[in-house]
Amino acid sequence: MTLAALATASPGPGRTSELPVQVLAAAPIPEPVDRVFAGALEVHAEATDITHRIFNVRVRIPVQAAGPTALLYPRWETTSHGPSLTATSLAGLSVSIDGQPLPWQRHPIDAHAFQLEIPTGASTLEATYQVIVGADTLSRDLVVVPWQRLVVYPAGWYARNIMVEPSVTLPPGLEPVSSLEVEAVQDGMVELAPVSLETLLDSPLHTARHLRKVPLATMGDAPVTLNLMASRAEDLDLPPERKAELVRMLDQVAAVFPPAPFKRYEFLARLEDDASTGGAEHRGSSEISLPSNYFRDWASQLNGRDILAHELVHAWNGLYRVPADLWAPTPNVPQGGSLLWVYEGQTEFWGRILAARAGLRSRQDTLDQLALDAAEVANRPGRAWRSLSDDVRYPTFMLQKPVPWRDWQRRKDYYREGVLLWLWVDALLRERTNGRQGLDDFARSFFAAPSGDAPARTYTFDDLCAALDALAPNDWAGELRAWVDGHEEVDTTAGLVRHGWQLVYTDTPTAAYLQQQGEDGVIDLSYSIGMTVTDKGVVRAVSWNGPAFAAGLAPGSRIAAVHGEPFDGERLVAAVRSARRIPVQLAVEQDGERVERTLRYRGTLRYPHLVRVSGRPDTLTSLLAPRRGIRQTKTLPATPLTEK
Ligand SMILES: [Zn+2]
Repeated sequence: MTLAALATASPGPGRTSELPVQVLAAAPIPEPVDRVFAGALEVHAEATDITHRIFNVRVRIPVQAAGPTALLYPRWETTSHGPSLTATSLAGLSVSIDGQPLPWQRHPIDAHAFQLEIPTGASTLEATYQVIVGADTLSRDLVVVPWQRLVVYPAGWYARNIMVEPSVTLPPGLEPVSSLEVEAVQDGMVELAPVSLETLLDSPLHTARHLRKVPLATMGDAPVTLNLMASRAEDLDLPPERKAELVRMLDQVAAVFPPAPFKRYEFLARLEDDASTGGAEHRGSSEISLPSNYFRDWASQLNGRDILAHELVHAWNGLYRVPADLWAPTPNVPQGGSLLWVYEGQTEFWGRILAARAGLRSRQDTLDQLALDAAEVANRPGRAWRSLSDDVRYPTFMLQKPVPWRDWQRRKDYYREGVLLWLWVDALLRERTNGRQGLDDFARSFFAAPSGDAPARTYTFDDLCAALDALAPNDWAGELRAWVDGHEEVDTTAGLVRHGWQLVYTDTPTAAYLQQQGEDGVIDLSYSIGMTVTDKGVVRAVSWNGPAFAAGLAPGSRIAAVHGEPFDGERLVAAVRSARRIPVQLAVEQDGERVERTLRYRGTLRYPHLVRVSGRPDTLTSLLAPRRGIRQTKTLPATPLTEK
């Protein structure tokens, strides 16, 4: 059937009136099928038009059959788990077949599908187009080749069935780093070893004007390298004690986790002045964003010190073992996120634990970090209507959307709540086995891969419960469902208490709290008067049904005065400190009006801390203590090129 024939589909039999009916004709897009794809795609990306921030891309596709087909531009992003890739970025699409132009039509519903009719006897389809990116992807100093935003591919196969021969032309003098193997470099053109489309989408390539490769260690036989990339050479400095801590972190990962599910691992770390700490995980690499003073000003990085551990753990938790609904045959098939509280939640848990074991964070700083986690999760009124199992739906509808009432709307709580949930699972495992089993044992068995390049293995909720049950028989399904589906009855600090610690509030903030305020650019009074406010008096967040909420404040309100004096952050903090005696009085500007508000809050400043539960053994301290297993990592010798 041709496209023209399909376009005249009838509205259907049985019409009984002349009232409107929808006529939406569309040729079907071939569904992905797990079958052989003959030959290989050639994908070439030109990353040289830095001025216009444009990639020029050419894809050559060996024709598999004549007839209607479609080219797809990816929609679901590997690390956001949501439909965050947009065909808006693709422009100038031109398709030819054996050198002759071939018309295409965008699918009427799916804007990421380009439909074509392949004539009989054709052999090679070629698509050329531009992909428009921002300064975060193509700039004079830093270049990212994000394959999942650059390729189009034929519909009808699983991504793992399609082999790709990728190549890229980089600006002169720049050296590529990625988990892909370089086969040849000539005149700036980098030819990469063939990989499946599935692997290519998960293997971004980076480069930078200033690049320093720091070999850290081998995990088993797999070398792990920290690639530092920056606009200035001086930002590439890695103090020896920082490197030693990262090597210890690899040691601690190796002491818990089974042999690495990669043959080589590359941290692709970009250091930029205004960057906030973050990362994106892949099987053989991770893209890490760091402020340029990250390693230099270590004291001010309390809250971001576990980012490398977090991203590395994802190689096991998320990339090798994948929740069955999160795995998809192609990046144009929707994914489910029902187990993101494992994928992200347990990874965040391991980030906290491994950073402590490696000495990246002191024991006290770790306790303070856990207090931040516990307080944020415990103060989530939104749990009344959205359980954790609804919060994990975040990627499907909330990605990149503003959330003015975060504690009520909930947004991505599965990271921090995961830390608390897995602390609780660890405590249950210990209690049921007299301390013989814990989450270390779960990780060792659950994430075991037969080899570094073993294909990903999916798991379901039942598989997870079975793995826990093998360590300590229990109604794991019932226990876990009660938490993830539960509402206000869930005690999210139960794991901390079982580990011998409880969440309390005092009038003194921890260093971690102060740094988090600084990173968020606010004075955070969430746990007292229920709001955060900038140093200019602009209200950023208001706790649902808290004192500030009750007084009519909302995100965007501006506090003009405190007790009749012009707004000043310190003045507001001092006013809250004295609120037991004198209720806080604010002049608030909202919608062009200035109104006087008195907060009905008769407490004082409140900041979260952890303290010991008397009479309960402290198993948290032993959880945070370094493991002394068989040493599985080997520090790599310094090389004169990369080491001072
Ligand atoms: Zn993560």
